[in-house]
Amino acid sequence: MHKGTGALYREDRCGCTVFGTKQLWPFSYFAAMKYKHLFFDLDHTLWDFDANAKLTLQDLYGTLKLEERGIDDFNRFYRQYLEHNTRLWARYRNGFIKQAELRVKRMQLSLLDFKIGDEALAQEMSRRFLEMLPTRNTLFPYATEILTYLTSKNYRLHLITNGFEEVQHHKIRNSNIHHYFDQVVTSEGSNSLKPNKEIFDFALAATGAQKAESIMLGDDLEADIIGAANAGLDQVYINHVNKSPDFKPTYTVYALKELEAIF
Ligand SMILES: [Mg+2]
Repeated sequence: MHKGTGALYREDRCGCTVFGTKQLWPFSYFAAMKYKHLFFDLDHTLWDFDANAKLTLQDLYGTLKLEERGIDDFNRFYRQYLEHNTRLWARYRNGFIKQAELRVKRMQLSLLDFKIGDEALAQEMSRRFLEMLPTRNTLFPYATEILTYLTSKNYRLHLITNGFEEVQHHKIRNSNIHHYFDQVVTSEGSNSLKPNKEIFDFALAATGAQKAESIMLGDDLEADIIGAANAGLDQVYINHVNKSPDFKPTYTVYALKELEAIF
């Protein structure tokens, strides 16, 4: 019985709130009934891409002796890198540049910000970065716990990720979350990219899931959320960085633990 509400409210044996004679089911009851397949994004949603990229670049900063080359402040270099990377990814997603160009150009432009015009160094940094990054294993807080929780509630978990097969598999193995997922759908494997409808259709076909029983969970409003909505799927916007979206997702959470209130 809730204090101060007389006999109007009570918790029944399943934890559902009863108002008078009308039963108000909790959020999670409907989600549990409705969804069977949860499609997660990987980078910036479960796997902390920024933290892992920063650690990798910091490593390269030391081994390639970038301080001696004139980059006196690693954090400033990293900020420049993030800016170029975000902009180039948007261009890549929109089909203006190829992945190979993105990979080198983000290094090249970051070096140029420090007046280092060295194509060979940019190539070397790009190669080593891609080699080292997937070996990092920093996940967002509560990532493993929420995957365990959802698995215990019999949801089928999958990944839909814009990335390369080998790289993405490497990341989930190294961070020890590979065993939670039935299907890992990458842009390389599906020959499509989020937010295109084709990659979501590919994922539904690969898992045998129906749209109505599926939901996409991701951090990227355009790629994950609007993409999934256009493909006819419900969405959970994982808003780790507290953005103000101009689109209304089915659900929004600000930390992975909050998913327990939905599922
Ligand atoms: Mg993402």
